[in-house]
Amino acid sequence: MSREVKIGKVSIGNNKIPVVQTMTNVDTADGVLLLKEIQRLSSAGAEIIRASVNTEDALKGFAYACRNTDVPLVADIHFDYQLAIGAAKAGAAKIRINPGNIGSQERVKEVVSACRDYGAAIRVGVNKGSLDVDLVEKYGKTPEAIVESAMRQVERIERYGFTDLVISVKSSDVSETVESYRLLSKSTDYPLHLGVTEAGGGDLALIKSSIGIGSLLLSGIGDTIRVSLSDDPISEVYAAKNILRALGIDKNFVNVISCPTCARTSIDVIGLAERIRKATINVNKPLKVAIMGCVVNGLGEGEDADIGVAGGKDKSVIFSKGVKIATIDNADIEKTILELINERI
Ligand code: SF4
Repeated sequence: MSREVKIGKVSIGNNKIPVVQTMTNVDTADGVLLLKEIQRLSSAGAEIIRASVNTEDALKGFAYACRNTDVPLVADIHFDYQLAIGAAKAGAAKIRINPGNIGSQERVKEVVSACRDYGAAIRVGVNKGSLDVDLVEKYGKTPEAIVESAMRQVERIERYGFTDLVISVKSSDVSETVESYRLLSKSTDYPLHLGVTEAGGGDLALIKSSIGIGSLLLSGIGDTIRVSLSDDPISEVYAAKNILRALGIDKNFVNVISCPTCARTSIDVIGLAERIRKATINVNKPLKVAIMGCVVNGLGEGEDADIGVAGGKDKSVIFSKGVKIATIDNADIEKTILELINERI
């Protein structure tokens, strides 16, 4: 179990439900636009949001957003330690750095000191592109090298007594990501931020993240997650939430299950399932709804559903926990199911 670390108003670690993160892709220098984007992503379910702070102007935009939201914001910093210090002063809840590319130990010390003074945590993010040469010589570009490199960077911060740390060792390769995090979790109890980086877009990217993040979460590893997609960041948020739901970690939603359809299917299973899923997407209540295409298998397969329909030629059976409660015209299925959901929420 990882220790607890506070990222602004959000606590992570200590067996809490993994927190959904994403990253903005608008110009950070445009503070008004950045804030709008943060509000949009937060409404969709992002609990911690990261933005690149790569210039002085970006720092100003980031500071504006920090002043106007209580969503914990993470400043993503590469190379420029002054920007890291500025972001901590501006109200960043966390600074994401790789101490290896910040420069001298004196600079790392100054960044740590600012983070302590202004209450920012630090995420040490290490990947294959930024490994220490001696570790590459010792291990090659392997999970062992990635993990030892990360722990070496962590030690550069810990020596000042600073322990509000999160670590990530993302890779674009699913197996390597999983292996690195498994190894890392044996070396530390700091919270771990999970992700398969540069996963790409479309279904394959979703599958990479689902397998990579999902298998780690199933092993009890991971405290925050980001699904990296070449897409609108809101898709990352939905995907992360769906991973938590698919794993049964987040149960607080309407879980619409439906049969795959076959020649026995008597009703529009595909359309009904999609419409009911969309109509209940924002309902935070643990309910299972089954849309099954026939009475032959439908009742049995949906027997643990709170509400279900098993399709018939003109009329269908509405059931609850495998027990028939009504027979209705097929034209009334959608309305009836939505009414039954509404009665329970
Ligand atoms: S529940 Fe019925 S209609 Fe649906 S796939 Fe199974 S047998 Fe086919």
